[in-house]
Amino acid sequence: MPRPECPSCGKKDRILEIEDKSKPLYYSMQGSPVFAKKWKCGNCGHVFEKE
Ligand SMILES: [Zn+2]
Repeated sequence: MPRPECPSCGKKDRILEIEDKSKPLYYSMQGSPVFAKKWKCGNCGHVFEKE
């Protein structure tokens, strides 16, 4: 999956994939939660939703 551009600062070379720990999507067979993924800009710290 191509990395998006930060909507705040416009850079795309330091975009990180992070887990949104406040929102478990579902629980795996082992009972561990699977979280939604978001993008975080390592340049300005802006966090934004995956499309
Ligand atoms: Zn940014």
